[in-house]
Amino acid sequence: MSNLNGSHPGNNGQAKGQPALRVIPLGGLHEIGKNTCVFEYGDDLMLVDAGLAFPSDGMHGVNVVLPDTSYLRENQKRIRGMIVTHGHEDHIGGIPHHLKNFNIPIIYGPRLALSILSGKMEEAGVMDRTILQTVSPREVVKVGQHFSVEFIRNTHSMADSYTLAITTPAGVIVFTGDFKFDHTPVDGEHFDIARLAHYGEQGVLCLFSDSTNAELPGFCPPERSVFPHLDRHISQAEGRVIITTFASSIHRVSMILELALKNGRKVGLLGRSMLNVIAKARELGYMRAPDDLFVPIKQIRDLPDRETLLLMTGSQGEPLAALSRISRGEHPQVQVKNSDTIIFSASPIPGNTISVVNTIDRLMMLGAKVVYGKGEGIHVSGHSFQEDHKLMLALARPKFFVPVHGEHRMLVAHAKTAQSMGIPADHTLIIDNGDVVELTPDSIRKGDPVKAGIELLDASRNGIVDARVLKERQQLAEDGVITLLAVITTDGVMAAPPRVNIRGVVTTADARKLSIWAEREITWVLENRWSQLSRNTGGKAPDVDWVGVQREVELGLQRRLRRELQVEPLIICLVQPAPAGTPAYKGRADAEPDNRPAPRGRREVGRDVGREAGRELSRELVRDPARVATAAPTPAAAAPEAKDTAPSAEEAEPSGRIRRRRSAAVAG
Ligand SMILES: [Zn+2]
Ligand SMILES: [Zn+2]
Repeated sequence: MSNLNGSHPGNNGQAKGQPALRVIPLGGLHEIGKNTCVFEYGDDLMLVDAGLAFPSDGMHGVNVVLPDTSYLRENQKRIRGMIVTHGHEDHIGGIPHHLKNFNIPIIYGPRLALSILSGKMEEAGVMDRTILQTVSPREVVKVGQHFSVEFIRNTHSMADSYTLAITTPAGVIVFTGDFKFDHTPVDGEHFDIARLAHYGEQGVLCLFSDSTNAELPGFCPPERSVFPHLDRHISQAEGRVIITTFASSIHRVSMILELALKNGRKVGLLGRSMLNVIAKARELGYMRAPDDLFVPIKQIRDLPDRETLLLMTGSQGEPLAALSRISRGEHPQVQVKNSDTIIFSASPIPGNTISVVNTIDRLMMLGAKVVYGKGEGIHVSGHSFQEDHKLMLALARPKFFVPVHGEHRMLVAHAKTAQSMGIPADHTLIIDNGDVVELTPDSIRKGDPVKAGIELLDASRNGIVDARVLKERQQLAEDGVITLLAVITTDGVMAAPPRVNIRGVVTTADARKLSIWAEREITWVLENRWSQLSRNTGGKAPDVDWVGVQREVELGLQRRLRRELQVEPLIICLVQPAPAGTPAYKGRADAEPDNRPAPRGRREVGRDVGREAGRELSRELVRDPARVATAAPTPAAAAPEAKDTAPSAEEAEPSGRIRRRRSAAVAG
């Protein structure tokens, strides 16, 4: 981590004191999504793309996944600008959020991408935080003292997409962005292969290339090839046609609109992103369709089914998207009919397969004819296959090669392709998020990594779901919650039987039994821990660490439940303080013997906590094990000892009731 301060970047024994060019992906490696890359030379830092990813199973209530940007926040003074390659969510989706956290003085990018981005920035209220500067093909922009970037038109599933040629003091970097070689592009905008070859001819130091389909042999079919297949299904449909695809697949959507026109069908649009993207794309001229082709969804029901085409979101089975809601019979405007033909013109992103097939099943059960899958010719990828990768390598002729934008096996496959083209294995690096690629005119190496990981945003896209919150949600979902109300006097006496509430816990124990156990824990804490948890300050009432009391009770009950019932619900203890002298409640704690060991030190407990939590959370989440310390120690490590872990940042509510704010309960 020695390079984290950023003041002397990359000068690891390079000859003549020349700094190395540092390229640091913070996202997009070993995954598909949240592409975010940093270029650094001397005092200049330039960003290329900043995308988002979507949550995986178990990330309850998480809306969006972003890369950890501590490195950028720490070095924000050196950020000179940002380059955007194209407008897909996995390349621009993170920008509005980042603008709230650090300063990006200027963003250069294609017109369509920046138009979509400005909509997102407006929504996030960060429109005034940066300058958006559109570029045209072959335009060169200068970023900081050391970078000049040429935008080379490429072909991809999204219109207005670019490959970058980045000239740096160390040499020229070709950064492909997302690409395929489509020689018959739907919008007539050809890949500027000549320009790429020009750089190849002059000498490219390193190629960073999209690896999404590196496992697939052959060439990626052109986008246009889906046209006749879609045409066949649409023209043969007896009733309504319902099509789902990515809203951002501009070319696909263009063809669908063209086919609707050709087949005499009016188009109804469903889904916010579908409406937004089509509006932007038509406004900027990336999509041509007459206004009267579109009919508002409320009126389209008046048209005959054979003259209707509904284009909607939901190709990934996203639970809230239009088609998913229709499949569950939950859409206010559209119900499935027997005569419907429903076309999935997209393939599931890995991880979405199950929700997609479930949606297909539900639609079929409702009686619709569903067209989906590889054999139908209704979808092609926007990313290169192996033979396209070879063409890219042949054109760029790089000295060094780094496969990016892909899961690990894709990166490995892509590196093999490069080797088959004569690039030596030691001129290739397979890297992970946070790794630092250091390049000089004649060397490539991995430097010390910077901090990388993930940041999870909740549905508001403002709140951060940290590791502890996620752990609590997983616990809630899997094991339920028990709340416990205890009345304790300021002189350390239980004044009423504890009230216990159980939600979502599978257990043989009833509330009464739990109440008795809770009583025992409270009694135990009052007998064994009260002297550490309260302090006589000379005033009327002693100063009590109520949060410490709650925590002790929670930990005790947690251990008991694990031991006796093998369940680990989330336990929330609330203490209502009562005035000193309130008569004691005698309790039923004698009902069962307490054979718990006496208190012991807690040293190992902390380690157990980290280890245990680590098993359940992903690697990135536990880089700071202290943050997941709400997990309880194992029974073997037995008794609690509060002072060193009791949180201090708790607040008493004016009513005198103390409520534990779990958000502040982080053990030190
Ligand atoms: Zn893309
Ligand atoms: Zn991408």
